[in-house]
Amino acid sequence: MAKDARELFEAIVERVKVLDPANSRRWFDDLTIKNFDGGLLEITCPDGEAAGFLQDNCTNSFTRAAQQITGYLVSIKFSVDGKAEKGKISLMNQTDPRLHPDYTFDNFVVGPANRFAHASCIAVSKSLGTIYNPLFIYGSVGVGKTHLLHAICREARNNLAKAKIQFLSCEEFVNRFISAIEAGTMAEFKSLYRTVDLLVIDDVQFLREREQSQEEFFHTFNALYGNRRQIVLSADAAPGQIPSLPERLTSRFEGGLVARIDAPTYETRVAIVQKKARLRGMKISDEVAEYIAGMVKANIRELEGALTTLYALAGAASEEIDLETARKTLGDREMPDKNITITDIIKAVTVYYDVRPADLQSKKRSQSITKPRQICMYLARNLTSHSLEEIGGHLGGRDHTTVMHACSKISGLQQIDDKIQSQLAELTKRITK
Ligand code: ADP
Ligand code: MG
Repeated sequence: MAKDARELFEAIVERVKVLDPANSRRWFDDLTIKNFDGGLLEITCPDGEAAGFLQDNCTNSFTRAAQQITGYLVSIKFSVDGKAEKGKISLMNQTDPRLHPDYTFDNFVVGPANRFAHASCIAVSKSLGTIYNPLFIYGSVGVGKTHLLHAICREARNNLAKAKIQFLSCEEFVNRFISAIEAGTMAEFKSLYRTVDLLVIDDVQFLREREQSQEEFFHTFNALYGNRRQIVLSADAAPGQIPSLPERLTSRFEGGLVARIDAPTYETRVAIVQKKARLRGMKISDEVAEYIAGMVKANIRELEGALTTLYALAGAASEEIDLETARKTLGDREMPDKNITITDIIKAVTVYYDVRPADLQSKKRSQSITKPRQICMYLARNLTSHSLEEIGGHLGGRDHTTVMHACSKISGLQQIDDKIQSQLAELTKRITK
């Protein structure tokens, strides 16, 4: 496990170098991980100067990198420790550092949109490999899939201290698979993943178009399934709706229990805001919880983002945050007006990228057309309340899976590519103005 945390940390440092090359330094390779208990990553620096530099310039990029690698929000702390030696870390008495301490069943608010998925996850965590295998959870971004997967692992660990559990994002699975091929360690790779009691893979839509990894995944799946080991998967769409996954995989995924999570209802959102505020030790009034819940509709991660902003700007003082403060702090984050049309979006995007509307609607697949087209879909999804089908219809009669694919692609790019991020910000500004 200690090795696991170290690998995770190395991956984070590598990601920082990509995200923020300007501030990356050669001595980043000398940084070591001091502690990582899920919510807080403590990093030991060679000296005070390094710690100061990181604190001032790199807190953001480390936070982003850690979030991308682990899949959840991580706080970063830089410190100096004279005695620290490279490679030595203290990870005594810890649960898996990948498991977020807050992502438990207790902290999951149950409502009509997620009740079935929640119950399925609890059932599976109590009897691995026997009732629903595989369990496949799907829903759009920020509806609590990763949270539930962490909770299953934690619960299974509590019930069965000796259970061999592997939790990883699909991206990581693919990366490890590729490294194993390159390093000639496929035998170890196979024996590691084919002998666990519980294999949990988050975001399997990542497998699409990765044929070789699909193949390995298929064999891993069959080996585990044949031995009645539990498999839990999540994705942003139902098995049959993930573009370019072969039938033999999707039919395997459908062979157990498939549970959908929908966007939370208003009442659930209010309860989630209250729960998250309590977890952070923030005091907010019911009015404020309702205000935030009314502001953010679908993505709970954004609800949390609103709370984080509130915490940073107004919550440091330990008084209760009132509605007026919340309005002042969050007012400009409110979702833009509903009367934005897809035509407005197409207009802004075509002007910005200097392409013609007819190009966006055509079958052309050159990068210079595909990107603006995908950005159109992404913006339409985020700034209007049109369905995926309607958005596809406006963009040359494309089907909803294409739109979904475009949205997840752009939202992924936005996280790692500052250029895309600023283009989206500029476009949003022009469209909502
Ligand atoms: P997904 O993996 O579906 O994109 P996450 O599991 O990362 O979404 O959830 C995003 C955030 O929302 C997490 O902080 C998670 O704890 C929180 N969240 C989602 N659903 C719930 C819920 N029902 N109760 C409490 N927190 C939730
Ligand atoms: Mg997730």
